[in-house]
Amino acid sequence: MTIKPIRRITGGAVQYDGAGVKLVRIIGYNDVKDFDPFLMLDAFDSDNPEDYIKGFPWHPHRGIETVTYLIDGEIDHGDSLGNRGSIDEGCCQWMTGGSGIIHQEMPQASEHMLGCQLWINLPQKDKMTEPAYRDIRKEMIPVVKEPGMEVRVISGTYHNTAGPEKGDYVATTYLDVKLEGNQTWSMSFEAENTVFIYIVRGSIHVDGQQVLLHRAILFGEGDTVEFKAEEDGARFFLYAGKPLKEPVAWAGPIVMNTSEELRIARQELQNGTFIKHK
Ligand code: MN
Repeated sequence: MTIKPIRRITGGAVQYDGAGVKLVRIIGYNDVKDFDPFLMLDAFDSDNPEDYIKGFPWHPHRGIETVTYLIDGEIDHGDSLGNRGSIDEGCCQWMTGGSGIIHQEMPQASEHMLGCQLWINLPQKDKMTEPAYRDIRKEMIPVVKEPGMEVRVISGTYHNTAGPEKGDYVATTYLDVKLEGNQTWSMSFEAENTVFIYIVRGSIHVDGQQVLLHRAILFGEGDTVEFKAEEDGARFFLYAGKPLKEPVAWAGPIVMNTSEELRIARQELQNGTFIKHK
């Protein structure tokens, strides 16, 4: 067993996206090499509806999956497959953009909004797969209770408990972990996986240093992450997946492998042939 050291800590940057949603982009365009197969992590943590109420009106996606998970708050959505509904607190929406989807994501005013949207890249061979949408309700997400901790398994497996999702295209581990003060946590992964966490509450002591709230930690070489919560406890999301190591051509909500594929996508959006599956 080799403990993974910290490779990089990032707090991201405040960005405005959609129709004017204030969010923190924890990872994004410039982080592809380090975080492959993960492209983006947008974090929401706000008690001011003005930050997010303008939402993300109708926009396209192609070549990626977007995974939205909320601890608190509510997001109404609709898409070109005919899905309509809302992501409520404790729920997760796993959307495969594939060949093309047009959707909108509209956060509703609530006392607090806490959650994030992760973008997972699709392998070259699956970029144009059929779009799909999975509504993972709170009650579908198993909660593993161990002394001093609670682990919600959204995707992949934790200590023999499988989540409702596994990642059909990129095998992905997605956990929501709550630790009491000073509680140690560890988990092993296949060595080639990219593994990172994002701290949503409290702070963590890892690799000889304290890492604060709203930071992401990318781990380096090894097969096991091991750290403990600081005295005030911690809650974090953990993501793991195998890098694709493929060329990335990224334009806004569309991520392909070549600039020619981006040009085709733009042209199809203009002439109304972007959507291949309804
Ligand atoms: Mn979107």
